[in-house]
Amino acid sequence: MDVLEKAVSGARLEPREVEALYQLPLSEVAAAAHEVRLRKSNPEVVTYLIDRNINYTNICTVACSFCAFYRTRRQQDAYTLSYEEISQKIEELKAVGGRRILMQGGVNPELPFEWYLEMLRYLKREHPDVRIDAFSPEEILGLEKLTGRPALELLAELKEAGLDGMPGAGAEILVDEVRTKVAPARIRTQDWFRIIDAAQSLGLYTLATMVIGLGETPAQRAEHLLKLRAQQDKALEQYGQGFAAFAVWTLQTEHTRLKGKAPGATAHEYLQQLAIARLTLDNIPNLQASWPTLGFKVAQAALYYGANDFGSTMLEENVVSAAGGHTRTHATERQIIRHIVDAGFKPAERDVYYNIIRWPEVEPEPTELPMA
Ligand code: SF4
Repeated sequence: MDVLEKAVSGARLEPREVEALYQLPLSEVAAAAHEVRLRKSNPEVVTYLIDRNINYTNICTVACSFCAFYRTRRQQDAYTLSYEEISQKIEELKAVGGRRILMQGGVNPELPFEWYLEMLRYLKREHPDVRIDAFSPEEILGLEKLTGRPALELLAELKEAGLDGMPGAGAEILVDEVRTKVAPARIRTQDWFRIIDAAQSLGLYTLATMVIGLGETPAQRAEHLLKLRAQQDKALEQYGQGFAAFAVWTLQTEHTRLKGKAPGATAHEYLQQLAIARLTLDNIPNLQASWPTLGFKVAQAALYYGANDFGSTMLEENVVSAAGGHTRTHATERQIIRHIVDAGFKPAERDVYYNIIRWPEVEPEPTELPMA
């Protein structure tokens, strides 16, 4: 049995087999990935989520070379949103039918831990029906340094105050050799997994992510996937739940210090990576297509390379879009529905755990779409 037949049969791939996938023709890897996707999730349906990104502060001391979003506290356009401003953004989300925020910011040492607790309590009081998925392992590591307390304790208190999940941003490539080259102060692989594990042990929602184009080799991309798979095995066995999904996107460097110093990744590499993820991550059922970095057309193609989900509306994404390139900051629900239908699937609105919560009306004819 060759490696693709093995993956399609449902058998788990060995590390050397995952690496070998990078040498195979993309069309063959894609066909296998699509077959697995059709078997693992409803073959006719592509899901999406209505949500909003909120970046509560852009002050950050980590200073990643690939980030154009962060500011030092002395810069004129440095900001921290007030609780009321965050609440107002949630009102705007609710007005378009959304019930979930994805809130992240820089590592801002001026904000004490109590600021986060109070913010969560305030937002849950004002919006009890809205999910708050917030912070990344990097922000939690910053709070560990600030308070001298372990992530598990901090996350337990944040959960008590209203935190529903801690997405898995900041993963990029979870191989320190790659990370230290592009962002020496960035959270290390071991800490990323330690903090994700703490979140999963508390029952918090988490997402497995990946960014390609930092100059990593195919073997390092494979290593990243295998580490995520191992963590998912552990989480499912010990906590009964783990990553809700996997998402990969390409590095954007246009407005960053990394411009010209990192290769980035092509649409071909993105689709290859997605398809290989589908064949490797046999314990993560949902894979997202990513439209913000490579656009809607590539995201539609991704639905035939292993993805079963079109991501979310994201109303107001600032971090990836600040880095430039082909980035879009948000999509309307109407745009997402139309792109799913045009790709040949039935759209369904979902919650963060991929339960279908609504079958939206589909306009009969394609219409002129406004540019996002
Ligand atoms: S990517 Fe995150 S941690 Fe790095 S500089 Fe930007 S805001 Fe800070």
